[in-house]
Amino acid sequence: MLVPPPISFSNKCKRCGLRYPAKATECVHCSNLTDSETEEMLLHKKSAHKNTANIGKLFFYIALLILIGTVLISA
Ligand SMILES: [Zn+2]
Repeated sequence: MLVPPPISFSNKCKRCGLRYPAKATECVHCSNLTDSETEEMLLHKKSAHKNTANIGKLFFYIALLILIGTVLISA
């Protein structure tokens, strides 16, 4: 049996920690940015993630309210 070699589609950048295509010789995210610009870019990515988490929480609370409402109506 032939075992397929592990295929790596992406490299992890040591500078910004983001993944970029293995074909690229340098990170596509931060290679053209200065240190401060890289930091800013990462901050934006982190805050975007935070917003997604908040939306998830909101949906959780809405679902909880619907559940409570259903229980109250059926009781
Ligand atoms: Zn990078």
